[in-house]
Amino acid sequence: MASTRIDNLGSIVTGDLESPVSSAESVYIEDGRIVEIESTTTTAETVIDANGLTLTPGFVDAHTHPLLGGFTPRQNALGWCENYLHGGVTSMVSAGECHVPGRPTDAAGLKALAVLAKGSYDRHRPGGVKVNAGTLLLSDDMTEADIEDAHLASIERMKILFALEDVDRARRLVQWGRDRGLVSMMHCGGSSLPGTKNITAAMFEQIEPDIAAHFNGGPTPLPDDGIDQLVEETEMVLELIIGGNQAVAVDVLRRTRDRGELSRLQIGTDTPTGTGVIPCGMLLEMSILAGLTTVSAPEIVALATGNVARHHRLDTGLVETGRPADLCLLGAPMGSQASDAMGALEHGEYAAVDKVLVDGEVLVDRSRNTPPAKRSAVVH
Ligand SMILES: [Zn+2]
Repeated sequence: MASTRIDNLGSIVTGDLESPVSSAESVYIEDGRIVEIESTTTTAETVIDANGLTLTPGFVDAHTHPLLGGFTPRQNALGWCENYLHGGVTSMVSAGECHVPGRPTDAAGLKALAVLAKGSYDRHRPGGVKVNAGTLLLSDDMTEADIEDAHLASIERMKILFALEDVDRARRLVQWGRDRGLVSMMHCGGSSLPGTKNITAAMFEQIEPDIAAHFNGGPTPLPDDGIDQLVEETEMVLELIIGGNQAVAVDVLRRTRDRGELSRLQIGTDTPTGTGVIPCGMLLEMSILAGLTTVSAPEIVALATGNVARHHRLDTGLVETGRPADLCLLGAPMGSQASDAMGALEHGEYAAVDKVLVDGEVLVDRSRNTPPAKRSAVVH
């Protein structure tokens, strides 16, 4: 039985908004899962001396556009998922495999695309990252039977990426999916691709999807009155991304904090896209939000881990017994005035990724993409 003990932690950032920090100094992992926090088990096959670093859940990128494996045709890049692992990302959620060249526009083609992507990523983790793919893009010709087909093929998510001509059908597609347990996302704001239309706040109120994808714009946000409308008049999940408008992201974070509604927020990158491939995009968005507001860094980490997992019903995103050991050891980067990872984020800087574990296995030993940490954990 594979076992790992992580000792000498500076602190644990849990990923849980209700209780974002724990002072426990050790964690025990068996067969890829967290078995004990503040462990009393004294032996393990692998012992990691954390050397005072901060343990967090691996980041869960709420908004990605995978295609197959580690290839993205949008930026002709290979191996991008592994690069994100080096930015602390252990899981990703697909917001649709929309970058396939000559993407089909009809129900049969879009269902086939989702089933192919899900099947492929369920069997293959590029770079070790858990890619939750196979998100059904909705089209005007879809019926309840198509949603049932997708459900029977184990599709768990769907997305309105382009404004459907028939808003009433869009509303029903979302409801038919909800009846079967599918989570629905809807593109929010200005059109992102030539030949497509804007999606307005009024459409959100009519269609009622679960998640306003890239609420701060992908890349163009709703006009201010639309932002106000969805924050104040709905309970929708609001997603903040690195590829959008950061003035809006900061404003939405402050307003939802003041309303006591941080549980509605989640963080993603919305990459690869026209915005590019951004391996440290999750850390970058966290450093912007923590650096420019008074929301604490551990709470911001929860928006990028536990909140995403809860909204998408993923069994990860928390440092909690029974969860998969998808974890990061983070520190203050060399040269920073901060003394630890959360201090660096609150100062508006990247935290340094020293180790990344997926299912208890150390996959990253000193990130090739973040600055080095002031001190490093040692694996024995
Ligand atoms: Zn997107």
